[in-house]
Amino acid sequence: MICPNCNASMKKIRMVGDITGMGVYLVNKEKGLLGMERRSNINTFVCPKCGKLELVAENPDVFS
Ligand SMILES: [Zn+2]
Repeated sequence: MICPNCNASMKKIRMVGDITGMGVYLVNKEKGLLGMERRSNINTFVCPKCGKLELVAENPDVFS
């Protein structure tokens, strides 16, 4: 992935949101107790020059 700001090559990193080290992910839970919880991991890219972050859902089709 190329940075839209400075055209540098962006590095894939992992964004960790808590001390368990599990990382963050996207959740879309449907209403009701029986609603299915849809999850997707997030691919995270950072530009080593300007620090821009790009977040891309790993499997966005689970939310369709
Ligand atoms: Zn950049």
